[in-house]
Amino acid sequence: MFKKILIANRGEIALRIQRACRELGVKAVMVYSEADREAKYIKLADESVCIGPAPSAQSYLNMPAIISAAEVTDAEAIHPGYGFLSENADFAERVEKSGFKFIGPTPESIRIMGDKVSAKQTMIKAGVPCVPGSEGALPDDAAVIKRTAKQVGYPVIIKAAGGGGGRGMRVVHTEAALLHAVQTTKAEAGAAFGNPEVYMEKFLQNPRHIEIQILADQHKNAVWLGERDCSMQRRHQKVIEEAPAPGVPRKLIERIGERCVAAVKKIGYRGAGTFEFLYENGEFYFIEMNTRVQVEHPVTEWVTGVDIVRTQIQVAAGEKLPFTQRQIEIKGHAIECRINAEDPYKFVPSPGRITTWHMPGGPGVRVDSHIYANYFVPPNYDSMVGKIIVHGDTREQALARMRTALAETVVEGINTNIPLHRELMVDAKFMDGGTNIHYLEEWLSKRDR
Ligand code: ADP
Repeated sequence: MFKKILIANRGEIALRIQRACRELGVKAVMVYSEADREAKYIKLADESVCIGPAPSAQSYLNMPAIISAAEVTDAEAIHPGYGFLSENADFAERVEKSGFKFIGPTPESIRIMGDKVSAKQTMIKAGVPCVPGSEGALPDDAAVIKRTAKQVGYPVIIKAAGGGGGRGMRVVHTEAALLHAVQTTKAEAGAAFGNPEVYMEKFLQNPRHIEIQILADQHKNAVWLGERDCSMQRRHQKVIEEAPAPGVPRKLIERIGERCVAAVKKIGYRGAGTFEFLYENGEFYFIEMNTRVQVEHPVTEWVTGVDIVRTQIQVAAGEKLPFTQRQIEIKGHAIECRINAEDPYKFVPSPGRITTWHMPGGPGVRVDSHIYANYFVPPNYDSMVGKIIVHGDTREQALARMRTALAETVVEGINTNIPLHRELMVDAKFMDGGTNIHYLEEWLSKRDR
Protein backbone atom coordinates (compact mmCIF):
# COMPACT_ATOMS: atom_id res chain seq x y z
CA MET A 1 0.00 0.00 0.00
CA PHE A 2 1.07 3.56 -0.61
CA LYS A 3 2.38 5.62 2.30
CA LYS A 4 1.19 8.93 0.92
CA ILE A 5 -1.32 10.02 -1.72
CA LEU A 6 -1.89 13.44 -3.21
CA ILE A 7 -5.54 14.32 -3.81
CA ALA A 8 -5.80 16.50 -6.91
CA ASN A 9 -9.31 17.78 -6.34
CA ARG A 10 -11.49 19.88 -4.07
CA GLY A 11 -14.80 19.85 -2.24
CA GLU A 12 -16.75 16.80 -1.17
CA ILE A 13 -14.80 14.33 -3.30
CA ALA A 14 -11.47 15.57 -1.91
CA LEU A 15 -12.82 14.90 1.57
CA ARG A 16 -14.24 11.52 0.50
CA ILE A 17 -10.83 10.42 -0.79
CA GLN A 18 -9.13 11.78 2.32
CA ARG A 19 -11.44 9.61 4.43
CA ALA A 20 -10.55 6.52 2.39
CA CYS A 21 -6.86 7.32 2.88
CA ARG A 22 -7.31 7.58 6.66
CA GLU A 23 -9.06 4.23 6.74
CA LEU A 24 -6.21 2.63 4.82
CA GLY A 25 -3.57 4.29 7.02
CA VAL A 26 -2.31 6.31 4.06
CA LYS A 27 -1.22 9.93 4.51
CA ALA A 28 -3.19 12.43 2.42
CA VAL A 29 -1.73 15.52 0.80
CA MET A 30 -4.38 18.04 -0.24
CA VAL A 31 -3.80 20.67 -2.88
CA TYR A 32 -5.91 23.80 -2.86
CA SER A 33 -6.48 27.07 -4.67
CA GLU A 34 -6.43 30.39 -2.88
CA ALA A 35 -10.25 30.27 -2.83
CA ASP A 36 -10.20 27.03 -0.83
CA ARG A 37 -7.50 27.98 1.68
CA GLU A 38 -9.90 28.05 4.65
CA ALA A 39 -11.71 24.78 3.88
CA LYS A 40 -11.81 22.42 6.85
CA TYR A 41 -10.67 19.40 4.90
CA ILE A 42 -7.49 21.30 4.12
CA LYS A 43 -6.91 21.84 7.82
CA LEU A 44 -7.65 18.16 8.49
CA ALA A 45 -5.07 17.00 5.96
CA ASP A 46 -1.70 15.56 6.88
CA GLU A 47 -0.15 18.08 4.51
CA SER A 48 -1.45 20.66 2.10
CA VAL A 49 -0.02 22.70 -0.75
CA CYS A 50 -1.43 25.82 -2.39
CA ILE A 51 -1.31 25.31 -6.17
CA GLY A 52 -2.52 28.67 -7.42
CA PRO A 53 -5.23 31.29 -7.57
CA ALA A 54 -8.97 30.62 -7.61
CA PRO A 55 -9.58 30.05 -11.35
CA SER A 56 -9.37 26.29 -12.07
CA ALA A 57 -7.13 26.83 -15.07
CA GLN A 58 -4.46 28.19 -12.74
CA SER A 59 -4.97 25.69 -9.90
CA TYR A 60 -6.95 22.43 -10.16
CA LEU A 61 -6.15 22.16 -13.87
CA ASN A 62 -2.54 23.27 -13.45
CA MET A 63 -0.62 20.06 -14.16
CA PRO A 64 2.92 21.29 -13.39
CA ALA A 65 1.77 22.78 -10.07
CA ILE A 66 0.07 19.53 -9.04
CA ILE A 67 2.98 17.35 -10.04
CA SER A 68 5.49 19.55 -8.24
CA ALA A 69 3.26 19.45 -5.15
CA ALA A 70 3.55 15.65 -5.29
CA GLU A 71 7.32 15.98 -5.66
CA VAL A 72 7.85 18.30 -2.71
CA THR A 73 5.64 16.20 -0.42
CA ASP A 74 7.03 12.82 -1.51
CA ALA A 75 3.61 11.49 -2.40
CA GLU A 76 3.63 8.18 -4.28
CA ALA A 77 0.30 8.37 -6.05
CA ILE A 78 -2.21 10.94 -7.26
CA HIS A 79 -5.98 10.53 -7.00
CA PRO A 80 -7.73 12.82 -9.49
CA GLY A 81 -11.31 12.50 -8.13
CA TYR A 82 -13.93 13.46 -10.73
CA GLY A 83 -14.04 16.46 -13.08
CA PHE A 84 -10.91 18.63 -13.43
CA LEU A 85 -8.03 16.40 -14.66
CA SER A 86 -9.64 13.05 -13.87
CA GLU A 87 -10.27 12.09 -17.50
CA ASN A 88 -7.28 13.86 -18.99
CA ALA A 89 -5.03 11.24 -20.59
CA ASP A 90 -2.14 13.71 -20.89
CA PHE A 91 -2.28 14.34 -17.16
CA ALA A 92 -2.32 10.61 -16.37
CA GLU A 93 0.68 10.22 -18.65
CA ARG A 94 2.60 13.08 -17.06
CA VAL A 95 1.84 11.74 -13.59
CA GLU A 96 3.24 8.32 -14.48
CA LYS A 97 6.23 9.77 -16.38
CA SER A 98 7.08 11.80 -13.29
CA GLY A 99 7.25 8.57 -11.31
CA PHE A 100 3.87 8.63 -9.53
CA LYS A 101 0.99 6.20 -9.75
CA PHE A 102 -2.14 7.61 -11.30
CA ILE A 103 -5.13 6.26 -9.36
CA GLY A 104 -7.21 5.39 -12.38
CA PRO A 105 -6.91 3.57 -15.68
CA THR A 106 -3.95 3.77 -18.05
CA PRO A 107 -3.58 6.88 -20.23
CA GLU A 108 -4.40 4.68 -23.26
CA SER A 109 -7.72 3.56 -21.74
CA ILE A 110 -8.61 7.17 -20.90
CA ARG A 111 -7.72 8.25 -24.42
CA ILE A 112 -9.81 5.55 -26.10
CA MET A 113 -12.85 6.22 -23.90
CA GLY A 114 -12.40 10.01 -23.98
CA ASP A 115 -13.02 9.99 -27.71
CA LYS A 116 -16.63 8.91 -28.07
CA VAL A 117 -16.10 7.60 -31.58
CA SER A 118 -13.26 5.28 -30.56
CA ALA A 119 -15.10 4.37 -27.34
CA LYS A 120 -18.13 3.28 -29.31
CA GLN A 121 -16.07 1.32 -31.81
CA THR A 122 -14.30 -0.44 -28.94
CA MET A 123 -17.61 -1.33 -27.32
CA ILE A 124 -19.11 -2.64 -30.55
CA LYS A 125 -16.06 -4.92 -30.90
CA ALA A 126 -16.43 -6.04 -27.28
CA GLY A 127 -20.07 -6.99 -27.82
CA VAL A 128 -21.65 -4.13 -25.85
CA PRO A 129 -24.85 -2.90 -27.56
CA CYS A 130 -24.67 0.72 -28.81
CA VAL A 131 -27.13 3.28 -30.17
CA PRO A 132 -27.50 2.71 -33.94
CA GLY A 133 -25.73 5.41 -35.90
CA SER A 134 -22.86 6.34 -38.19
CA GLU A 135 -19.92 4.00 -38.38
CA GLY A 136 -17.34 6.22 -36.75
CA ALA A 137 -16.98 9.94 -37.45
CA LEU A 138 -19.10 11.62 -40.13
CA PRO A 139 -17.26 12.39 -43.37
CA ASP A 140 -17.49 15.76 -45.15
CA ASP A 141 -19.48 14.33 -48.06
CA ALA A 142 -23.01 15.78 -47.85
CA ALA A 143 -24.54 12.88 -49.75
CA VAL A 144 -23.05 10.34 -47.36
CA ILE A 145 -24.28 12.31 -44.33
CA LYS A 146 -27.80 12.42 -45.75
CA ARG A 147 -27.74 8.74 -46.61
CA THR A 148 -26.54 7.83 -43.12
CA ALA A 149 -29.34 9.84 -41.50
CA LYS A 150 -31.91 8.19 -43.73
CA GLN A 151 -30.62 4.74 -42.80
CA VAL A 152 -30.51 5.55 -39.07
CA GLY A 153 -33.95 7.17 -39.25
CA TYR A 154 -34.99 10.62 -38.01
CA PRO A 155 -34.77 12.11 -35.46
CA VAL A 156 -30.99 11.80 -35.20
CA ILE A 157 -28.53 13.40 -32.81
CA ILE A 158 -25.20 14.85 -33.93
CA LYS A 159 -22.59 14.44 -31.18
CA ALA A 160 -19.03 15.69 -30.82
CA ALA A 161 -16.41 12.93 -30.51
CA GLY A 162 -14.65 15.01 -27.89
CA GLY A 163 -17.82 16.21 -26.15
CA GLY A 164 -18.60 16.00 -22.45
CA GLY A 165 -20.72 17.48 -19.72
CA GLY A 166 -23.81 17.43 -21.91
CA ARG A 167 -22.25 19.85 -24.42
CA GLY A 168 -21.66 19.41 -28.14
CA MET A 169 -24.92 17.72 -29.16
CA ARG A 170 -27.68 18.68 -31.56
CA VAL A 171 -30.94 16.90 -32.39
CA VAL A 172 -32.10 16.93 -36.01
CA HIS A 173 -35.65 16.10 -37.07
CA THR A 174 -35.58 16.66 -40.82
CA GLU A 175 -33.19 16.33 -43.72
CA ALA A 176 -33.61 20.05 -44.42
CA ALA A 177 -31.94 20.87 -41.10
CA LEU A 178 -29.28 18.15 -41.28
CA LEU A 179 -26.25 19.66 -43.00
CA HIS A 180 -26.46 22.95 -41.18
CA ALA A 181 -26.65 21.09 -37.85
CA VAL A 182 -23.62 18.99 -38.70
CA GLN A 183 -21.61 22.09 -39.69
CA THR A 184 -22.58 24.03 -36.58
CA THR A 185 -21.83 21.14 -34.23
CA LYS A 186 -18.47 20.62 -35.94
CA ALA A 187 -17.54 24.27 -35.55
CA GLU A 188 -18.62 24.30 -31.91
CA ALA A 189 -16.80 21.06 -31.18
CA GLY A 190 -13.62 22.35 -32.75
CA ALA A 191 -13.76 25.50 -30.65
CA ALA A 192 -14.83 23.86 -27.39
CA PHE A 193 -12.98 20.52 -27.43
CA GLY A 194 -10.20 21.09 -29.96
CA ASN A 195 -11.60 18.25 -32.08
CA PRO A 196 -14.16 19.01 -34.80
CA GLU A 197 -15.06 15.34 -35.32
CA VAL A 198 -18.76 14.53 -34.96
CA TYR A 199 -20.80 11.36 -35.28
CA MET A 200 -24.47 10.52 -35.66
CA GLU A 201 -26.81 8.47 -33.51
CA LYS A 202 -30.46 7.68 -33.57
CA PHE A 203 -32.14 10.07 -31.15
CA LEU A 204 -33.99 7.93 -28.66
CA GLN A 205 -37.26 9.63 -27.72
CA ASN A 206 -37.96 8.62 -24.15
CA PRO A 207 -35.05 6.64 -22.75
CA ARG A 208 -33.91 6.23 -19.18
CA HIS A 209 -30.27 6.74 -18.20
CA ILE A 210 -28.97 3.58 -16.58
CA GLU A 211 -25.31 3.00 -15.86
CA ILE A 212 -23.18 0.06 -14.76
CA GLN A 213 -20.37 0.49 -12.22
CA ILE A 214 -17.31 -1.66 -12.73
CA LEU A 215 -14.08 -2.21 -10.83
CA ALA A 216 -11.00 -3.97 -12.21
CA ASP A 217 -7.52 -4.78 -10.94
CA GLN A 218 -4.22 -5.33 -12.74
CA HIS A 219 -4.55 -9.11 -12.42
CA LYS A 220 -7.34 -9.57 -14.96
CA ASN A 221 -10.08 -9.55 -12.34
CA ALA A 222 -13.14 -7.41 -12.92
CA VAL A 223 -16.59 -7.14 -11.39
CA TRP A 224 -19.72 -5.10 -11.98
CA LEU A 225 -21.48 -3.62 -8.98
CA GLY A 226 -25.03 -3.43 -10.22
CA GLU A 227 -26.58 -0.42 -11.90
CA ARG A 228 -27.69 3.11 -11.13
CA ASP A 229 -30.66 4.96 -12.55
CA CYS A 230 -29.68 8.59 -13.22
CA SER A 231 -32.64 9.63 -15.36
CA MET A 232 -33.59 12.62 -13.20
CA GLN A 233 -31.57 15.22 -15.08
CA ARG A 234 -31.74 18.91 -15.82
CA ARG A 235 -29.79 20.13 -18.85
CA HIS A 236 -28.05 16.74 -19.01
CA GLN A 237 -26.88 17.18 -15.42
CA LYS A 238 -27.87 14.48 -12.96
CA VAL A 239 -29.94 15.70 -10.02
CA ILE A 240 -31.12 12.47 -8.33
CA GLU A 241 -29.60 9.01 -8.66
CA GLU A 242 -30.67 5.66 -7.31
CA ALA A 243 -29.74 2.00 -7.18
CA PRO A 244 -31.08 -0.39 -8.28
CA ALA A 245 -33.01 0.91 -11.31
CA PRO A 246 -36.74 0.51 -10.61
CA GLY A 247 -38.67 -1.93 -12.74
CA VAL A 248 -35.91 -3.20 -15.02
CA PRO A 249 -35.87 -7.01 -15.29
CA ARG A 250 -32.85 -8.42 -13.42
CA LYS A 251 -32.08 -10.77 -16.30
CA LEU A 252 -31.59 -7.83 -18.68
CA ILE A 253 -29.36 -5.97 -16.25
CA GLU A 254 -27.30 -9.07 -15.60
CA ARG A 255 -26.74 -9.65 -19.27
CA ILE A 256 -25.53 -6.06 -19.73
CA GLY A 257 -23.38 -6.17 -16.57
CA GLU A 258 -21.65 -9.30 -17.79
CA ARG A 259 -21.00 -7.67 -21.17
CA CYS A 260 -19.39 -4.71 -19.41
CA VAL A 261 -17.12 -7.00 -17.42
CA ALA A 262 -16.13 -8.84 -20.59
CA ALA A 263 -15.34 -5.51 -22.28
CA VAL A 264 -13.26 -4.36 -19.32
CA LYS A 265 -11.23 -7.57 -19.45
CA LYS A 266 -10.84 -7.35 -23.18
CA ILE A 267 -9.40 -3.84 -23.14
CA GLY A 268 -7.27 -4.43 -20.03
CA TYR A 269 -9.04 -1.70 -18.10
CA ARG A 270 -8.04 -1.11 -14.48
CA GLY A 271 -9.64 0.85 -11.66
CA ALA A 272 -13.19 2.15 -11.36
CA GLY A 273 -15.30 2.95 -14.39
CA THR A 274 -18.88 3.46 -15.47
CA PHE A 275 -20.63 2.35 -18.62
CA GLU A 276 -23.48 4.73 -19.37
CA PHE A 277 -26.50 3.40 -21.25
CA LEU A 278 -29.77 4.71 -22.53
CA TYR A 279 -32.54 2.22 -21.83
CA GLU A 280 -35.68 2.19 -23.94
CA ASN A 281 -38.29 -0.49 -24.68
CA GLY A 282 -36.33 -3.17 -22.89
CA GLU A 283 -33.05 -2.48 -24.75
CA PHE A 284 -29.77 -1.05 -23.50
CA TYR A 285 -27.69 1.24 -25.71
CA PHE A 286 -24.16 2.23 -24.69
CA ILE A 287 -23.47 5.98 -24.94
CA GLU A 288 -20.18 6.53 -23.15
CA MET A 289 -17.75 5.30 -20.52
CA ASN A 290 -16.53 7.41 -17.63
CA THR A 291 -13.03 6.43 -16.58
CA ARG A 292 -13.18 7.77 -13.02
CA VAL A 293 -15.13 7.65 -9.79
CA GLN A 294 -18.52 9.30 -10.18
CA VAL A 295 -20.46 11.74 -8.05
CA GLU A 296 -23.17 9.13 -7.57
CA HIS A 297 -20.86 6.30 -6.40
CA PRO A 298 -22.34 6.26 -2.85
CA VAL A 299 -25.65 4.70 -3.94
CA THR A 300 -23.72 1.74 -5.32
CA GLU A 301 -21.53 1.59 -2.22
CA TRP A 302 -24.62 1.35 -0.09
CA VAL A 303 -26.44 -1.41 -1.93
CA THR A 304 -23.29 -3.51 -2.44
CA GLY A 305 -21.31 -2.76 0.71
CA VAL A 306 -18.23 -2.13 -1.46
CA ASP A 307 -16.10 0.94 -0.74
CA ILE A 308 -15.38 2.07 -4.29
CA VAL A 309 -12.82 4.78 -3.44
CA ARG A 310 -10.90 2.50 -1.10
CA THR A 311 -10.85 -0.22 -3.77
CA GLN A 312 -9.63 2.27 -6.39
CA ILE A 313 -6.62 2.97 -4.18
CA GLN A 314 -6.04 -0.72 -3.45
CA VAL A 315 -6.03 -1.77 -7.09
CA ALA A 316 -3.81 1.19 -8.05
CA ALA A 317 -1.33 -0.08 -5.45
CA GLY A 318 -1.31 -3.41 -7.31
CA GLU A 319 -3.55 -5.35 -4.93
CA LYS A 320 -6.11 -7.84 -6.18
CA LEU A 321 -9.80 -6.99 -5.98
CA PRO A 322 -10.76 -8.04 -2.44
CA PHE A 323 -13.99 -9.73 -3.63
CA THR A 324 -15.31 -11.79 -6.51
CA GLN A 325 -18.47 -11.32 -8.56
CA ARG A 326 -20.23 -14.04 -6.59
CA GLN A 327 -19.77 -12.06 -3.40
CA ILE A 328 -21.52 -9.02 -4.84
CA GLU A 329 -25.12 -8.93 -3.75
CA ILE A 330 -27.54 -6.02 -4.11
CA LYS A 331 -29.26 -5.24 -0.81
CA GLY A 332 -32.11 -2.78 -0.46
CA HIS A 333 -32.40 0.53 -2.25
CA ALA A 334 -30.34 3.75 -2.15
CA ILE A 335 -31.18 7.26 -3.36
CA GLU A 336 -28.93 10.30 -3.66
CA CYS A 337 -29.96 13.95 -3.88
CA ARG A 338 -27.30 16.36 -5.11
CA ILE A 339 -27.40 19.56 -3.08
CA ASN A 340 -26.48 22.53 -5.26
CA ALA A 341 -25.86 26.12 -4.26
CA GLU A 342 -28.43 27.53 -6.65
CA ASP A 343 -31.86 29.08 -6.81
CA PRO A 344 -34.38 26.19 -6.59
CA TYR A 345 -36.63 27.80 -9.21
CA LYS A 346 -34.39 29.68 -11.61
CA PHE A 347 -31.23 27.64 -11.05
CA VAL A 348 -28.87 30.60 -11.01
CA PRO A 349 -25.79 29.75 -8.91
CA SER A 350 -25.88 31.05 -5.36
CA PRO A 351 -22.35 31.25 -3.99
CA GLY A 352 -21.62 33.06 -0.73
CA ARG A 353 -21.37 32.62 3.01
CA ILE A 354 -23.36 29.78 4.59
CA THR A 355 -24.66 30.88 7.97
CA THR A 356 -26.57 27.74 9.02
CA TRP A 357 -25.64 24.23 7.92
CA HIS A 358 -27.66 21.58 9.67
CA MET A 359 -27.46 18.14 8.11
CA PRO A 360 -29.77 15.17 8.70
CA GLY A 361 -28.92 11.91 10.40
CA GLY A 362 -30.49 8.76 11.73
CA PRO A 363 -30.83 5.25 10.30
CA GLY A 364 -29.94 4.89 6.66
CA VAL A 365 -28.73 8.47 6.10
CA ARG A 366 -25.30 9.45 4.76
CA VAL A 367 -24.13 12.97 3.99
CA ASP A 368 -21.06 13.53 1.83
CA SER A 369 -20.11 17.18 2.06
CA HIS A 370 -17.17 19.38 2.89
CA ILE A 371 -19.41 22.23 4.09
CA TYR A 372 -19.89 23.64 7.60
CA ALA A 373 -21.49 26.74 9.10
CA ASN A 374 -19.67 29.92 8.13
CA TYR A 375 -18.15 28.25 5.03
CA PHE A 376 -17.90 30.53 2.03
CA VAL A 377 -19.01 28.86 -1.22
CA PRO A 378 -16.61 30.25 -3.81
CA PRO A 379 -18.16 31.33 -7.13
CA ASN A 380 -15.37 29.72 -9.14
CA TYR A 381 -16.42 26.08 -9.18
CA ASP A 382 -19.29 23.67 -9.69
CA SER A 383 -22.30 24.57 -7.55
CA MET A 384 -22.63 21.15 -5.87
CA VAL A 385 -22.05 21.55 -2.14
CA GLY A 386 -22.87 18.05 -1.00
CA LYS A 387 -24.96 14.94 -1.37
CA ILE A 388 -27.59 13.39 0.85
CA ILE A 389 -27.77 9.64 0.40
CA VAL A 390 -30.32 7.33 2.01
CA HIS A 391 -30.75 3.60 2.13
CA GLY A 392 -33.78 1.45 2.92
CA ASP A 393 -34.80 -2.18 2.66
CA THR A 394 -37.20 -1.13 -0.08
CA ARG A 395 -37.49 1.86 -2.41
CA GLU A 396 -40.50 3.05 -0.39
CA GLN A 397 -38.46 3.04 2.80
CA ALA A 398 -35.60 4.87 1.07
CA LEU A 399 -38.04 7.51 -0.19
CA ALA A 400 -39.52 7.93 3.29
CA ARG A 401 -36.05 8.31 4.75
CA MET A 402 -35.11 10.88 2.13
CA ARG A 403 -38.24 12.89 2.92
CA THR A 404 -37.37 12.89 6.60
CA ALA A 405 -33.74 13.73 5.87
CA LEU A 406 -34.68 16.66 3.63
CA ALA A 407 -37.17 17.92 6.21
CA GLU A 408 -34.41 17.99 8.84
CA THR A 409 -31.92 19.76 6.59
CA VAL A 410 -31.43 23.50 7.15
CA VAL A 411 -29.11 25.59 5.00
CA GLU A 412 -29.13 29.36 5.39
CA GLY A 413 -27.13 32.19 3.87
CA ILE A 414 -27.25 30.82 0.33
CA ASN A 415 -29.98 29.33 -1.85
CA THR A 416 -30.01 25.60 -2.46
CA ASN A 417 -32.10 23.18 -4.49
CA ILE A 418 -33.34 21.42 -1.32
CA PRO A 419 -36.93 22.71 -1.90
CA LEU A 420 -36.84 21.08 -5.34
CA HIS A 421 -35.81 17.74 -3.86
CA ARG A 422 -38.58 17.99 -1.25
CA GLU A 423 -41.14 18.44 -4.01
CA LEU A 424 -39.76 15.62 -6.12
CA MET A 425 -39.78 13.13 -3.25
CA VAL A 426 -43.58 13.44 -3.06
CA ASP A 427 -44.17 13.52 -6.81
CA ALA A 428 -46.45 10.64 -7.77
CA LYS A 429 -44.62 9.70 -10.97
CA PHE A 430 -41.18 9.80 -9.37
CA MET A 431 -42.53 7.75 -6.48
CA ASP A 432 -43.76 5.15 -8.98
CA GLY A 433 -40.21 4.88 -10.35
CA GLY A 434 -38.90 4.55 -13.88
CA THR A 435 -39.26 8.15 -15.10
CA ASN A 436 -37.33 8.93 -18.30
CA ILE A 437 -34.56 11.48 -18.95
CA HIS A 438 -37.02 14.21 -19.96
CA TYR A 439 -39.27 13.84 -16.97
CA LEU A 440 -37.61 16.41 -14.71
CA GLU A 441 -37.45 19.11 -17.40
CA GLU A 442 -41.09 18.53 -18.29
CA TRP A 443 -42.02 18.61 -14.63
CA LEU A 444 -40.12 21.89 -14.18
CA SER A 445 -41.85 23.49 -17.15
CA LYS A 446 -45.24 22.71 -15.60
CA ARG A 447 -44.27 23.67 -12.05
CA ASP A 448 -46.30 26.47 -10.43
CA ARG A 449 -44.30 29.61 -9.71
P1 ADP B 1 -21.83 13.79 -22.16
O1 ADP B 1 -20.48 13.15 -22.20
O2 ADP B 1 -21.79 15.20 -22.66
O3 ADP B 1 -22.53 13.62 -20.86
P2 ADP B 1 -23.48 11.64 -23.32
O4 ADP B 1 -23.14 10.95 -24.56
O5 ADP B 1 -23.28 10.92 -22.05
O6 ADP B 1 -22.70 13.05 -23.30
O7 ADP B 1 -24.98 12.15 -23.39
C1 ADP B 1 -25.50 13.01 -22.41
C2 ADP B 1 -27.00 12.97 -22.42
O8 ADP B 1 -27.51 13.36 -23.70
C3 ADP B 1 -27.60 11.61 -22.16
O9 ADP B 1 -27.70 11.30 -20.79
C4 ADP B 1 -28.97 11.78 -22.83
O10 ADP B 1 -29.79 12.54 -21.97
C5 ADP B 1 -28.66 12.60 -24.05
N1 ADP B 1 -28.37 11.74 -25.22
C6 ADP B 1 -27.13 11.39 -25.68
N2 ADP B 1 -27.23 10.58 -26.77
C7 ADP B 1 -28.56 10.41 -27.00
C8 ADP B 1 -29.33 9.68 -27.97
N3 ADP B 1 -28.75 8.95 -28.93
N4 ADP B 1 -30.69 9.73 -27.89
C9 ADP B 1 -31.29 10.46 -26.93
N5 ADP B 1 -30.63 11.18 -26.01
C10 ADP B 1 -29.29 11.16 -26.02
